[in-house]
Amino acid sequence: MTLKIGTHVSIAGSHVRAFERAKESGANTFQIFTGNPRGWSTKEIDEGTATAFNAAYKKYNFGEVVAHMPYLPNPASPKDEIYEKSCDVLLREILRCRTLSIPYLVTHLGSHGGNGREFGINRVADALTGALTAAEEHAGAKTPFMILLENTAGTKNSIGGQFADIGDILKITDETFPDGIGVCTDTCHAFAAGYDLTTAEGFERTIADFEDAVGLKRLKVIHLNDTKGDCASHLDRHEHIGLGRIGTEGLKRVVTHPTLSSRIFILETPIDERRGDKENIAAVKAMAGEK
Ligand SMILES: [Zn+2]
Ligand SMILES: [Zn+2]
Repeated sequence: MTLKIGTHVSIAGSHVRAFERAKESGANTFQIFTGNPRGWSTKEIDEGTATAFNAAYKKYNFGEVVAHMPYLPNPASPKDEIYEKSCDVLLREILRCRTLSIPYLVTHLGSHGGNGREFGINRVADALTGALTAAEEHAGAKTPFMILLENTAGTKNSIGGQFADIGDILKITDETFPDGIGVCTDTCHAFAAGYDLTTAEGFERTIADFEDAVGLKRLKVIHLNDTKGDCASHLDRHEHIGLGRIGTEGLKRVVTHPTLSSRIFILETPIDERRGDKENIAAVKAMAGEK
Protein backbone atom coordinates (compact mmCIF):
# COMPACT_ATOMS: atom_id res chain seq x y z
CA MET A 1 0.00 0.00 0.00
CA THR A 2 1.30 3.47 -0.92
CA LEU A 3 1.61 5.96 1.92
CA LYS A 4 -0.47 9.11 1.73
CA ILE A 5 2.19 11.62 2.61
CA GLY A 6 2.94 15.32 2.24
CA THR A 7 4.13 18.39 4.08
CA HIS A 8 2.66 21.74 4.97
CA VAL A 9 3.28 23.83 1.85
CA SER A 10 3.01 27.51 1.00
CA ILE A 11 0.36 28.97 -1.33
CA ALA A 12 2.60 31.96 -2.11
CA GLY A 13 2.02 33.00 -5.73
CA SER A 14 -1.26 31.10 -6.01
CA HIS A 15 -3.15 28.28 -4.32
CA VAL A 16 -2.35 25.92 -7.20
CA ARG A 17 1.38 26.26 -6.46
CA ALA A 18 0.73 24.01 -3.46
CA PHE A 19 0.30 21.05 -5.84
CA GLU A 20 3.55 21.84 -7.67
CA ARG A 21 5.50 22.29 -4.45
CA ALA A 22 4.16 19.03 -3.05
CA LYS A 23 4.89 17.10 -6.22
CA GLU A 24 8.47 18.39 -6.29
CA SER A 25 9.14 16.97 -2.83
CA GLY A 26 7.78 13.51 -3.67
CA ALA A 27 4.43 14.01 -1.91
CA ASN A 28 0.98 12.85 -2.98
CA THR A 29 -0.94 15.16 -0.61
CA PHE A 30 -0.30 18.38 1.34
CA GLN A 31 -1.57 20.77 3.96
CA ILE A 32 -2.11 24.51 3.39
CA PHE A 33 -3.44 27.61 5.06
CA THR A 34 -6.19 28.71 2.69
CA GLY A 35 -5.26 32.36 3.30
CA ASN A 36 -3.20 34.55 5.61
CA PRO A 37 -2.41 32.45 8.72
CA ARG A 38 -1.47 35.43 10.90
CA GLY A 39 -4.50 37.71 10.67
CA TRP A 40 -8.23 37.65 11.41
CA SER A 41 -9.17 38.65 7.88
CA THR A 42 -8.02 37.17 4.59
CA LYS A 43 -8.48 37.72 0.87
CA GLU A 44 -11.47 35.99 -0.72
CA ILE A 45 -10.83 33.07 -3.04
CA ASP A 46 -11.78 34.22 -6.53
CA GLU A 47 -13.45 32.04 -9.13
CA GLY A 48 -10.33 31.57 -11.25
CA THR A 49 -8.37 30.31 -8.25
CA ALA A 50 -11.13 27.89 -7.28
CA THR A 51 -11.43 26.52 -10.82
CA ALA A 52 -7.67 26.04 -11.18
CA PHE A 53 -7.38 24.39 -7.76
CA ASN A 54 -10.23 21.99 -8.44
CA ALA A 55 -8.71 21.02 -11.79
CA ALA A 56 -5.30 20.42 -10.20
CA TYR A 57 -6.41 17.32 -8.24
CA LYS A 58 -6.72 15.42 -11.50
CA LYS A 59 -3.77 17.06 -13.21
CA TYR A 60 -1.39 16.11 -10.39
CA ASN A 61 -3.21 12.88 -9.48
CA PHE A 62 -3.77 13.91 -5.84
CA GLY A 63 -6.53 12.61 -3.59
CA GLU A 64 -7.57 14.25 -0.34
CA VAL A 65 -5.63 17.29 0.86
CA VAL A 66 -5.79 19.15 4.16
CA ALA A 67 -6.30 22.74 5.33
CA HIS A 68 -5.18 24.17 8.68
CA MET A 69 -6.96 26.98 10.56
CA PRO A 70 -5.06 30.28 10.98
CA TYR A 71 -3.20 30.89 14.25
CA LEU A 72 -5.28 33.56 16.02
CA PRO A 73 -8.67 31.92 16.61
CA ASN A 74 -9.30 30.52 20.10
CA PRO A 75 -12.61 28.63 20.22
CA ALA A 76 -12.21 28.02 23.99
CA SER A 77 -11.71 31.70 24.85
CA PRO A 78 -13.73 33.11 27.76
CA LYS A 79 -13.55 36.55 26.09
CA ASP A 80 -16.72 36.97 24.05
CA GLU A 81 -15.14 39.14 21.38
CA ILE A 82 -12.32 36.66 20.69
CA TYR A 83 -14.75 33.76 20.84
CA GLU A 84 -17.18 35.32 18.33
CA LYS A 85 -14.36 36.20 15.97
CA SER A 86 -13.03 32.64 16.27
CA CYS A 87 -16.45 31.22 15.39
CA ASP A 88 -16.61 33.52 12.36
CA VAL A 89 -13.21 32.37 11.12
CA LEU A 90 -14.20 28.73 11.62
CA LEU A 91 -17.29 29.19 9.42
CA ARG A 92 -15.31 31.15 6.83
CA GLU A 93 -12.65 28.42 6.66
CA ILE A 94 -15.26 25.66 6.28
CA LEU A 95 -16.72 27.53 3.30
CA ARG A 96 -13.27 28.11 1.79
CA CYS A 97 -12.51 24.40 2.10
CA ARG A 98 -15.70 23.61 0.21
CA THR A 99 -14.78 26.07 -2.54
CA LEU A 100 -11.44 24.28 -2.92
CA SER A 101 -12.89 20.73 -2.41
CA ILE A 102 -10.69 20.22 0.66
CA PRO A 103 -12.30 17.55 2.87
CA TYR A 104 -10.40 18.21 6.11
CA LEU A 105 -9.90 21.36 8.18
CA VAL A 106 -7.53 20.96 11.14
CA THR A 107 -8.16 23.19 14.13
CA HIS A 108 -6.52 23.69 17.51
CA LEU A 109 -8.86 23.81 20.48
CA GLY A 110 -7.45 26.88 22.16
CA SER A 111 -7.09 27.96 25.76
CA HIS A 112 -9.76 28.41 28.41
CA GLY A 113 -7.72 31.21 29.98
CA GLY A 114 -8.08 29.87 33.52
CA ASN A 115 -11.83 29.20 33.39
CA GLY A 116 -11.30 25.46 33.66
CA ARG A 117 -11.39 22.34 31.51
CA GLU A 118 -15.16 21.90 31.57
CA PHE A 119 -15.75 25.50 30.50
CA GLY A 120 -13.26 25.09 27.66
CA ILE A 121 -14.71 21.82 26.44
CA ASN A 122 -18.26 23.17 26.33
CA ARG A 123 -17.09 26.38 24.66
CA VAL A 124 -15.26 24.49 21.89
CA ALA A 125 -18.19 22.10 21.38
CA ASP A 126 -20.56 25.07 20.98
CA ALA A 127 -18.21 26.76 18.51
CA LEU A 128 -17.99 23.60 16.39
CA THR A 129 -21.72 22.92 16.44
CA GLY A 130 -22.47 26.57 15.67
CA ALA A 131 -20.11 26.73 12.69
CA LEU A 132 -21.32 23.43 11.21
CA THR A 133 -24.94 24.51 11.66
CA ALA A 134 -24.31 27.86 9.96
CA ALA A 135 -22.40 26.13 7.15
CA GLU A 136 -25.45 23.97 6.35
CA GLU A 137 -27.22 27.05 5.02
CA HIS A 138 -24.56 27.65 2.38
CA ALA A 139 -24.10 26.12 -1.04
CA GLY A 140 -22.25 22.82 -1.29
CA ALA A 141 -23.33 21.64 2.16
CA LYS A 142 -23.40 18.03 0.95
CA THR A 143 -19.74 17.78 -0.13
CA PRO A 144 -17.78 15.44 2.17
CA PHE A 145 -16.15 17.58 4.82
CA MET A 146 -14.88 17.21 8.37
CA ILE A 147 -13.36 19.48 10.99
CA LEU A 148 -10.41 17.67 12.59
CA LEU A 149 -9.56 18.41 16.22
CA GLU A 150 -5.82 18.49 16.87
CA ASN A 151 -4.15 17.47 20.13
CA THR A 152 -1.79 19.98 21.75
CA ALA A 153 1.44 19.86 23.74
CA GLY A 154 -0.66 20.30 26.88
CA THR A 155 0.54 23.72 28.02
CA LYS A 156 -1.24 25.43 30.90
CA ASN A 157 -4.95 26.16 30.25
CA SER A 158 -4.87 24.58 26.80
CA ILE A 159 -7.59 22.16 25.72
CA GLY A 160 -6.59 18.99 23.89
CA GLY A 161 -3.34 17.88 25.53
CA GLN A 162 -5.05 14.70 26.67
CA PHE A 163 -7.04 12.57 24.22
CA ALA A 164 -9.85 12.58 26.80
CA ASP A 165 -10.34 16.33 26.16
CA ILE A 166 -11.01 15.58 22.50
CA GLY A 167 -13.20 12.60 23.37
CA ASP A 168 -15.32 14.72 25.71
CA ILE A 169 -15.86 17.38 23.03
CA LEU A 170 -16.89 14.68 20.51
CA LYS A 171 -19.42 13.27 23.00
CA ILE A 172 -21.20 16.63 22.94
CA THR A 173 -20.92 17.38 19.21
CA ASP A 174 -21.94 13.81 18.25
CA GLU A 175 -25.47 14.62 19.39
CA THR A 176 -25.81 17.07 16.47
CA PHE A 177 -23.05 16.17 14.00
CA PRO A 178 -21.96 12.54 14.46
CA ASP A 179 -20.13 12.55 11.11
CA GLY A 180 -18.95 16.14 10.99
CA ILE A 181 -15.89 15.99 13.24
CA GLY A 182 -12.78 13.81 13.28
CA VAL A 183 -9.31 13.99 14.78
CA CYS A 184 -5.77 14.95 13.73
CA THR A 185 -3.00 13.70 16.01
CA ASP A 186 0.40 15.39 16.12
CA THR A 187 3.21 13.09 17.29
CA CYS A 188 5.38 15.97 18.56
CA HIS A 189 2.46 17.37 20.58
CA ALA A 190 1.49 13.94 21.95
CA PHE A 191 5.05 13.28 23.10
CA ALA A 192 5.30 16.77 24.65
CA ALA A 193 2.00 16.17 26.45
CA GLY A 194 3.35 12.98 28.06
CA TYR A 195 2.59 10.14 25.64
CA ASP A 196 5.88 8.22 25.42
CA LEU A 197 6.35 7.24 21.79
CA THR A 198 9.95 6.06 22.21
CA THR A 199 9.18 2.56 23.49
CA ALA A 200 6.92 -0.22 22.18
CA GLU A 201 5.02 -0.26 25.51
CA GLY A 202 4.57 3.52 25.48
CA PHE A 203 3.29 3.40 21.92
CA GLU A 204 0.81 0.59 22.72
CA ARG A 205 -0.42 2.52 25.77
CA THR A 206 -0.86 5.64 23.65
CA ILE A 207 -2.88 3.73 21.04
CA ALA A 208 -5.00 2.10 23.76
CA ASP A 209 -5.64 5.48 25.39
CA PHE A 210 -6.63 7.00 22.05
CA GLU A 211 -8.90 4.07 21.20
CA ASP A 212 -10.55 4.35 24.59
CA ALA A 213 -11.05 8.14 24.60
CA VAL A 214 -11.68 8.85 20.92
CA GLY A 215 -11.65 5.72 18.73
CA LEU A 216 -9.09 5.09 15.99
CA LYS A 217 -11.76 5.20 13.29
CA ARG A 218 -12.06 8.96 13.90
CA LEU A 219 -8.37 9.58 13.23
CA LYS A 220 -8.05 10.97 9.71
CA VAL A 221 -4.75 12.85 9.64
CA ILE A 222 -1.46 12.38 11.49
CA HIS A 223 0.92 15.31 11.85
CA LEU A 224 4.12 13.29 11.78
CA ASN A 225 6.75 15.44 13.45
CA ASP A 226 9.85 14.62 15.44
CA THR A 227 10.63 16.95 18.34
CA LYS A 228 13.38 18.82 20.14
CA GLY A 229 11.53 18.61 23.47
CA ASP A 230 11.45 15.81 26.02
CA CYS A 231 8.43 13.63 26.85
CA ALA A 232 5.96 15.60 29.04
CA SER A 233 8.02 18.80 28.55
CA HIS A 234 5.02 20.63 26.98
CA LEU A 235 7.50 22.06 24.48
CA ASP A 236 6.18 22.35 20.91
CA ARG A 237 9.36 22.41 18.84
CA HIS A 238 9.28 20.32 15.68
CA GLU A 239 12.38 18.52 14.42
CA HIS A 240 13.37 16.63 11.25
CA ILE A 241 12.06 13.05 10.97
CA GLY A 242 14.28 10.71 12.98
CA LEU A 243 16.63 13.43 14.21
CA GLY A 244 14.66 14.35 17.33
CA ARG A 245 13.69 12.84 20.69
CA ILE A 246 11.05 10.48 19.28
CA GLY A 247 13.54 9.17 16.73
CA THR A 248 13.36 6.79 13.81
CA GLU A 249 12.28 3.76 15.81
CA GLY A 250 9.44 5.64 17.50
CA LEU A 251 8.12 7.22 14.31
CA LYS A 252 8.48 3.95 12.39
CA ARG A 253 6.01 2.33 14.79
CA VAL A 254 3.47 5.01 13.87
CA VAL A 255 4.03 4.75 10.11
CA THR A 256 3.92 0.95 10.00
CA HIS A 257 1.01 0.42 12.43
CA PRO A 258 -1.68 -1.61 10.58
CA THR A 259 -4.40 1.01 11.17
CA LEU A 260 -2.39 4.23 11.26
CA SER A 261 -0.50 3.46 8.04
CA SER A 262 -3.63 4.07 5.96
CA ARG A 263 -4.10 7.62 7.27
CA ILE A 264 -2.88 10.88 5.72
CA PHE A 265 0.59 11.81 7.04
CA ILE A 266 1.43 15.52 7.05
CA LEU A 267 4.93 16.62 8.03
CA GLU A 268 5.36 20.04 9.62
CA THR A 269 9.11 19.70 9.79
CA PRO A 270 11.67 22.52 9.49
CA ILE A 271 13.39 23.54 6.27
CA ASP A 272 17.02 24.39 7.01
CA GLU A 273 20.60 23.60 6.00
CA ARG A 274 20.24 20.01 7.24
CA ARG A 275 17.13 19.02 5.30
CA GLY A 276 14.11 20.13 3.31
CA ASP A 277 10.71 18.52 2.64
CA LYS A 278 12.08 16.12 0.06
CA GLU A 279 14.55 14.53 2.50
CA ASN A 280 11.99 14.24 5.32
CA ILE A 281 9.45 12.62 3.03
CA ALA A 282 12.13 10.20 1.81
CA ALA A 283 12.96 9.36 5.45
CA VAL A 284 9.34 8.41 6.15
CA LYS A 285 9.04 6.36 2.97
CA ALA A 286 12.19 4.50 3.95
CA MET A 287 10.65 3.66 7.34
CA ALA A 288 7.64 2.21 5.56
CA GLY A 289 9.83 0.25 3.15
CA GLU A 290 8.84 2.43 0.17
CA LYS A 291 11.39 3.88 -2.18
ZN1 LIG B 1 -1.71 22.42 14.12
ZN1 LIG C 1 3.41 21.93 16.79
